[in-house]
Amino acid sequence: MTYKFKHFIAILFMAAISSLANAQTKIAFEVSFTEPQAHYVDVEMEVSGLKKDQVDIKMPVWAPGSYLIREFAKNVESFTAKNAKGESLPLEKINKNTWRVNTQKNGKVKINYRVYAFEISVRTSFVDASHAFLSPTGIFMYVDGMINNPATVTINPHKSWSKISTGLETVKSKSNTFYAENFDILFDSPIEVGNQDVFEFNASGVRHEVAMVGGGNYDKSRLKKDMAKIVEEETAIFGVNPNKHYVFIVHHYSSGGGGLEHLNSTVLGASRLGYTNENTYKNFLGLVAHEYFHLWNVKRLRPVALGPFDYDSENYTSNLWIAEGFTAYYDNLVVRRADFHTAGKYLNALEGDINLVENQPGTRIQSLSESSFDAWIKGYRPNENSRNTTISYYNKGALVAMVLDLAILNSTKGSKRLDDVMKAMYEEYFVKKGRGYTDAEFKAMAEKIGGISLNSIYDKYVNGTVPIDYQTYLSYAGLKIVDEGNAATDPFLGASATLKDGKLIVNNVVRGSAAWDSGLNVNDEVIAIDGYRVNELDKTVASKKVGDNTKIQVSRDGALLELQARITRNPAKKYRIMQAENASAEQISIRNKWLNLKDENVMGSK
Ligand SMILES: [Zn+2]
Repeated sequence: MTYKFKHFIAILFMAAISSLANAQTKIAFEVSFTEPQAHYVDVEMEVSGLKKDQVDIKMPVWAPGSYLIREFAKNVESFTAKNAKGESLPLEKINKNTWRVNTQKNGKVKINYRVYAFEISVRTSFVDASHAFLSPTGIFMYVDGMINNPATVTINPHKSWSKISTGLETVKSKSNTFYAENFDILFDSPIEVGNQDVFEFNASGVRHEVAMVGGGNYDKSRLKKDMAKIVEEETAIFGVNPNKHYVFIVHHYSSGGGGLEHLNSTVLGASRLGYTNENTYKNFLGLVAHEYFHLWNVKRLRPVALGPFDYDSENYTSNLWIAEGFTAYYDNLVVRRADFHTAGKYLNALEGDINLVENQPGTRIQSLSESSFDAWIKGYRPNENSRNTTISYYNKGALVAMVLDLAILNSTKGSKRLDDVMKAMYEEYFVKKGRGYTDAEFKAMAEKIGGISLNSIYDKYVNGTVPIDYQTYLSYAGLKIVDEGNAATDPFLGASATLKDGKLIVNNVVRGSAAWDSGLNVNDEVIAIDGYRVNELDKTVASKKVGDNTKIQVSRDGALLELQARITRNPAKKYRIMQAENASAEQISIRNKWLNLKDENVMGSK
């Protein structure tokens, strides 16, 4: 390379840098724990290379993957800003999560603040004397307008802690220091600091690290083998595993569950002593399958509204039924494919999902797309009427995934399935176009692969509230579904109540039931039915007959009332899935493909 040419390149390089004024700004965090027993995280944020008179420092209001405004700034205290000499800079808080700092033309600004971290969940931070879990959206602030800048994080563990687990890249030259290419990556990389038990396994060419926090009766060698199987089954769906390194942070509690997905890591909640119980163990594997599937579905293949994120307010999408519902469909299916469940067990779980959706009155009120869009105000903020007015995009989304899977298997005579749609969507929108998909684009891809119109499925089951025609779709796989609840004649009031301080308090009234029509309210104290004191509502209702006119005495805010209710038969659906007697060879071959069966008669115990 000649000198002249090098010089030319240097000029080009300088021009590129000055056109990106922010690119010179360096952001470095240092996190310490001076009082972990009181649940505090001490954060220092050094911003250097600034060329602005003022900067707005902001804390996100939500954690991607969990669709609720959580107001993380509520846990922040003692916010200060100083120049390199340690002199205080003027600052003003301009709204709930923004601190405006007057830089006084200083290129380097040092921000300090403390975060109170005492909320146990997979999406909130928690610190005590034993460990620190840093959920990044509630710990790290960003400079407004510099979300695409890189950042480094140095962790100074408390002296009694020895390990750090995170999906962030390590900075080799500085100990306990990590690097994020931008704030989307930083905010997507939780950090566990403490004395966790760490083990590793390799699967699909990826090094997986498992950080077990809070004890537990797990069997490492079994987990390594079983988790690797899940990784391999899921990688096979998408054909590629985009990570080199993936971290599972598992928090153990006396009773725990739930998880939150990230780009190359996940945080799971588990029951400390649940590993020796087969059901609890399989549920844990299902959770692993769920969160791991998300590394493709939602973290990379995503609805267009879910990235780049706005950390300042709600990010609305009508597609959580794909992002979460399809992931919920695949978690069970992958557990089946990996042979942790028999096909019969898988169908049992499916029955459970169908019964849950069909017995919730809200399923006839709220569509899947509405459920997705309103997650922020409804799904994540349930109240006493939620069952009557909403439906989960997890449960019903999984059932629509099943409908699409079976419709595509049927229309392509078993040559294509939902896997092919997910893989093609991943390649087209994440890999090729580098953006999220719209609702219409997802539908178009599924129609292209299935070679069928999905207008009716979308109109009825996605954007409408029409009951799913399970029989039609299950028949493609030589199965039938019957409602054993149809024949039930047990009496039904349509209310539930629990004892509180010796009082029987109503906590749910079912839409359209006798209790609903009678005017029974949530929070009413049930005193007597037909003149007799009631201690257990269910038992008393069970002693009645369908058609009985009953008098319910209640106390409502201290006032005595008598309500009239006419007992009905229990309308609950009790669906069971069975093999159809006269299934054709084609139907059986679709069933075998769908349920990963080698022999039509080996459905396993049901
Ligand atoms: Zn999920």
